[in-house]
Amino acid sequence: MKICSLLILLLSTWVAPFIFAQQTPQSLADAELPSLLAIYKEVHTHPELSGQEEQTAALVAKELRAAGCQVTEHVGKYENPKLKPYGVVGVMKNSDGPTVLVRTDMDALPIQEETGLPYASKVVAKNDEGKDVHVMHACGHDIHIAAFIGTARALAKLKDQWRGTIVFVAQPAEEIGNGARALLKDGLYDRFGKPNFALGFHDKADVQTGHIAITEGYTSANVDSVDVTVRGIGGHGAYPHKTKDPIVLAAEIINAWQTIVSRDNNPLDPVVITVGSINGGTKHNIIPDEVKMQLTVRTYKPYVRERVLADIDRIAKGCAAAAGIPPDLAPIVTVSKDFFAPAMYNNPELTKRLVAVWKKSLGDESVEMVDAVMGGEDFSEYSLRDHSIPAVNFHFGAVDPAKIAEYKQTGKELPTLHSSKFAPVPEPTIRTAIIGMTTAVLDLMKKS
Ligand SMILES: [Zn+2]
Ligand SMILES: [Zn+2]
Repeated sequence: MKICSLLILLLSTWVAPFIFAQQTPQSLADAELPSLLAIYKEVHTHPELSGQEEQTAALVAKELRAAGCQVTEHVGKYENPKLKPYGVVGVMKNSDGPTVLVRTDMDALPIQEETGLPYASKVVAKNDEGKDVHVMHACGHDIHIAAFIGTARALAKLKDQWRGTIVFVAQPAEEIGNGARALLKDGLYDRFGKPNFALGFHDKADVQTGHIAITEGYTSANVDSVDVTVRGIGGHGAYPHKTKDPIVLAAEIINAWQTIVSRDNNPLDPVVITVGSINGGTKHNIIPDEVKMQLTVRTYKPYVRERVLADIDRIAKGCAAAAGIPPDLAPIVTVSKDFFAPAMYNNPELTKRLVAVWKKSLGDESVEMVDAVMGGEDFSEYSLRDHSIPAVNFHFGAVDPAKIAEYKQTGKELPTLHSSKFAPVPEPTIRTAIIGMTTAVLDLMKKS
């Protein structure tokens, strides 16, 4: 018995430092997972709208501090005074070396949750207009937060393997496309250092959990919001000849815009023009004075974006002139500066480098090359408009493989991001995200 205990003691004192030396992103992700799942559920149950991320930001700040970061809160400068700056920046310094930015987003959406999960949100909050709305983490930003904290904890414990400065950025207001811009406007790069590389991640609702999905080059689109007011001369619905009907004109303009994509554009350059809202008139027998429309316009390349926006304006005004609308009542076309996110460009060289890293850390079969989308993501701002800071925004799967197999067999669509039924599988999704981000940072900052 005594010999046995002595042997265990000897073995444990000899093996313990060996185990410590063997800490890896994988073993650290496994060790941290139970507490990160608890954080995930906590954040999921208490979602906050864009510009209102007070509790979420406080939680992230506390966790970054506990991981050894120097933390600054309330970073961000918005144009809209209704949005409060809840950006959190945690700096982890480890001697001289490159600076790498690691970003999570934090905000939730005005959606009533219908997942039926035991930790589902029941939160109701006031939106910008003072209206009560249900709130839900339907885009997985809660998963990102848990993985972001896990990454900070892992990198703090792996300091013997990297050198330089990691700037952990917990960004608010991604869903309204201006959180990243607000942080940069508040001097993110002057105050905390301009990064050599910027890394972000996002869950994906059509990729299996445990996998990383990545696109080289353009991965998400320029998002422009355009407001159009079509003006006419209203009157009685029974006497159209005495009016200039803006409803018929709006219909013509919408049809004419379709030719921007089908006729004016190079088919190899993706473009989407969606009229998401059209409002005009009050009653059956009144021709109104105006019709208002709201468009979302998606493009990749800067010159395509400029041309498409100019085409929208030209066609609206041209149709109005053809309908005999006087020049002083020409349509008013406004491109919003506030609701804009630039296209995300995954630096090809950096993408290739990280794909090799992930194949090694997660296995060849766990890394999928996927097509780009026309969705928007303001992580692109960190790369700057000229993409001069090499950046990669990668995806990680969040769906049970059995559900993907079922979808392939039956064609029954899975809940997408922003669906009230979107319920990501927390485990191993969070684990994969931590390993993906941690191994990427280690490779970019490794000791030579
Ligand atoms: Zn979203
Ligand atoms: Zn999102």
